[in-house]
Amino acid sequence: MFKKITFALFTLVILWLLYSTFKPAITEKAKIEDKTTTSINTSVKTEELIPKETVEDSAYAFIPDFNYRQGDVVPVEIKNFIKKDFDRYEIKTNIKGDFSALEIYMLDGLPFALIPITSSTKPDIYKVEVYKNEKLLSTTIFKVNKREFEIQHLSINKSFEEKKTPENLESDKNALKNAKKTSSTTPLFTKKFIYPVKDYSVTTSFQAIRFVNDTNIIYRHSGIDMAVPKGTPIECSNSGKVTFAGETVSGGNTVIVDHGLGIFTQYMHMDKIHVKKDQELKQGEILGEVGTTGFSTGAHLHFDACIENTYVDPEQLINYNILNNLE
Ligand SMILES: [Zn+2]
Repeated sequence: MFKKITFALFTLVILWLLYSTFKPAITEKAKIEDKTTTSINTSVKTEELIPKETVEDSAYAFIPDFNYRQGDVVPVEIKNFIKKDFDRYEIKTNIKGDFSALEIYMLDGLPFALIPITSSTKPDIYKVEVYKNEKLLSTTIFKVNKREFEIQHLSINKSFEEKKTPENLESDKNALKNAKKTSSTTPLFTKKFIYPVKDYSVTTSFQAIRFVNDTNIIYRHSGIDMAVPKGTPIECSNSGKVTFAGETVSGGNTVIVDHGLGIFTQYMHMDKIHVKKDQELKQGEILGEVGTTGFSTGAHLHFDACIENTYVDPEQLINYNILNNLE
């Protein structure tokens, strides 16, 4: 009996000794494990609160507040961009146009783009997205408001109608498109655009809907028709460089001027042309005289503004300070 009690006590002492020896180690291990868990949690929390991309790049599109309508131009600036990454940014919009991503220009140290709104764009809310390395960084929204377009019923004499063959229209279209292919990447102007003639009356407004010779064929009038006497001098709407000076079937004597940043102005039905291709022009310089060449029924200047192959309202360019810092 005594032997059994002694054995039991001996076993208890051994167990207690074993426990005392390993207890601090077990506690220490648990403590280390605790620390590890805490540190993992902290790092997850930090990442959730401040997403990596936001810390690195919070670039976004800034659009000035304006009553943008169908046919207007929307200027876009990228703010908070990282200078060294300039050529890695892309600006995309869900406004439909002759572009996928918009051309980005560097203007006074800021990335800048212009969105031309076609006149057929549905009045709605649209978005402008800034991407870097194909990753979406931010989305800005803006509204396109409705504009009333004039409706005209027009009679064109038979000889004009006969010249309006698909081939002729196609060759005109190509000639005009080629002249607007490349634009200076810096603005060639420092002032607001001006009307190329004075004391005019508008006979057809921007994007007027035209029904010709009582048919159902609709033409959209790309610019504004400004009626003035034949021989009236035409002033260049802004400084730039001539990219086309010659004849087209519908436009008659035509001049196209590049102003940089993808902005072009176009002058048609001129009686005489006074400039040559590649000539640099200052704002107000005379580029020709008003006439009635091409598809025209009387002396007038047909005046267009075009961005990314989209005709935009030339009067918005004249009245709105598109680059924000124009004289
Ligand atoms: Zn016209």
